Formats: sequence, C-alpha cells, structure tokens
Amino acid sequence: MDADPEIVVEYGFDGGTPARVERLGPRRFRLEPHACRPGPQWFHLCVQVRADAAGPVTLEIDWPPGLCREDLPPGLSEEEIHRRTDYDSFARVLPACCVCRHENGAWEPVGGVSVDGDRVTASLEVRKGVTEFATQMPYRWADLEALLAQVRQVRPDALRVIGASQAGLPIHAVTLGRRADAPTVHLQAYQHATEFTGPHVADALIRHALAHPDAPGELKLQVVPVVDVDALFYGMPLVLQDAVTTSVRRVNINRCWDDRSWPEVAAVEDLILERRREGARFVAGLDFHNGWWKAQASGACYTVLDPEEAGPELDARQRRLVEHLLASTDHERPGTTWCHKVEGTFSRWFHRATGGLGHTVEFSRHLWWNRARQAYEPARPHHPAAYARDLLAALRAYDWS
Ligand SMILES: [Zn+2]
Repeated sequence: MDADPEIVVEYGFDGGTPARVERLGPRRFRLEPHACRPGPQWFHLCVQVRADAAGPVTLEIDWPPGLCREDLPPGLSEEEIHRRTDYDSFARVLPACCVCRHENGAWEPVGGVSVDGDRVTASLEVRKGVTEFATQMPYRWADLEALLAQVRQVRPDALRVIGASQAGLPIHAVTLGRRADAPTVHLQAYQHATEFTGPHVADALIRHALAHPDAPGELKLQVVPVVDVDALFYGMPLVLQDAVTTSVRRVNINRCWDDRSWPEVAAVEDLILERRREGARFVAGLDFHNGWWKAQASGACYTVLDPEEAGPELDARQRRLVEHLLASTDHERPGTTWCHKVEGTFSRWFHRATGGLGHTVEFSRHLWWNRARQAYEPARPHHPAAYARDLLAALRAYDWS
C-alpha cells in the first residue's frame, strides 16, 4: 500500500501540531490540523517531512473552517477588511511568513506557499533527512534548555529556579544588571501556548545582555522567558487533550493573577514580592503575547490602563513610557495601544503589587511594522531579536526617575 515509503509527514515531535495526514500521491500530502485553539489564537501548524532523498514535496493544508474568519463582520471580504483596518488577513499574509528548517539549520522564510479559500498549499524543496515546516517560527523546549545552558555558562549567578509547574518542571528567572539598587524591569513571556514571539524576544534579550554586559546600563532586568513551562514542554497535545492536570488547563492563566490558582503564577508573584521586600524598585513589567484579532495588535502594541481608571498622573506616566517604546524601536507602529479592562491579568496585578507600570505587549503572529517603509512586512525569523535589541536600548535610555 505504501506507494512512497521514502517520505513521511509527522507531527509527533517536540513542538509538532497534531493533524490528520493523508498521502495524496508520491510527493503530495494533505493535512487536516486539529490543533487549533479557539478564540484569539491564530492557527499554528508545525510538521516534519522526513525524506530519504532530496526533492519537492507538496503539502495541502486544509485550514480549519471558522477559526480564521469567526471575528470578521459579514459582508466584507478579507481583502477589504485588511485594506481598511490592517487586520491580519491570513490569506494575504500567511504565504509570506511561513518558515522551514532543514536538519541542524536555522528557521528561514519559505516561498512557494499559496492560499485559496481554506486551503494552504506549500511547495517545499526538502533535503535528505528532516525538514520542518511551520506557519510561525516555533519556540521549543530545546530552545529554552539551550538558553538556560548559555546562562549557566556565562552568568550562573544570574539564573534561579523560582518554582515548579503543575507537571513538576522548573520555572526559571534570569536577573541581569549590576547595581543592586537599580530600577528593575520585569519581563516575561509565554503565558499562552503557541504564542511564540514572546519567548523568542525574551531569549534574544537575555542572550544580547549576556554578550554585552553593559547593555542594561543602570537597569536591572528580571526575565522569566517561559511562564507556562508545561505548555511549552507538552505543546499542543496538552492543550488538546488536557494530558496533565486536567482541571486547570482550560483556564486562561492570564486571568489568575489575583487568585494565584496556578503555581506558575504564584512562583512569579513570589519572586517579585520577595525582591520587593529585598528593596528592589520595580519600574515596569512587560508581558509578551501574540495577538491577532485587533488591528492594533499588528506589529507590537501595548495595553494601558483605561485613562479614567488610571487617573491623570498614572495615565501620563504609562503613556510616556509607551510612547517612548513605540518611538524607540523599528518594529512598532506608533500610536498602537489599547485598554485591557479584564481583571486578573499580570499587568494589573503587577501595577497593584509594585506600583510599577504593567503592560501586556501583543505581537502579531505574522506582521511586523517597518518604520523605514511605514508599512507592515511579513514576520521574518530575525524580527524578535531585532526587537529585543531595540527594546533593551529603549529601556536603558528611559528616564525612570
Ligand atoms: Zn496571550
């Protein structure tokens, strides 16, 4: 029955997303992903093609109906909506930002992707061995381990285990900067499974600061690169099957900062509160996410407290910082903020607990702002690192007094 035994398409690996795989022909496969999260999580797919010989392989991906269109108002084409609002129309954007990686290689943009209705067709040139294909550059458990190994090697004193996840995995914080009494910025990522831009940014920021010990300047940085380590370790199967600790996995972790119902949240809170007791002055806390369903969440954007709720003094303070950040990086569209009114978020808890400014940072999965061109461009593998360098420089240059 196996007409083409030398090529298989798999998802059962670290970071793979479950899908039904059907062989259509010698080098052609159809994938029906069933790994999508409902709500404002744009669909993510990552699979491996294993081949005994190099050559072309075509993947037909049947996009899960409804997930990418559920928020579109009726009567407007995606094209029109994109034109009016910069909405992340996947059909328009996705072909330009798919990535692939050959064995031991780096993620790179892949051409040859087209979208027709709910079907994505990717034509890959695979090499002998494993070629991975993804709709967004994933961040893996192996990436986190490599980062932590680097910290251990260069600055072992900077690394600390701050607690354990529900599955017993360690949660790490990295603290960088020299002065004990320096203003402290807390950064964290990956409260939400598959929101990969955040850990990529945190990873790049830590690596940059390790390589350039003067980069934080007079600041202290406290970085938790991955908050929900279980979601990273178990990946989409955890989200789908509730493989671990069923009762809490359907809860949005970013609504639990007031009740500490997640040990991962409690670990981060305890770290911040302990450092506060030791005299740390937290001036800001940034929480990295991937958003997609608001026009504002294209490129990076920041949540702020509602001006009425914040009051004039705090409102001026939060807008001053956000405008500085927006003006200081190449990859953010000025003016993109929105008020996050729900309770239980990290940003609100952080502000209440420390007095520092708390912001959720939403990155588009697939679009980054290009300041020079004054236009969006498709996400490229270099974007998170470029943003991290910009952000670090911007935080360093800010007047925190
Ligand atoms: Zn999120």
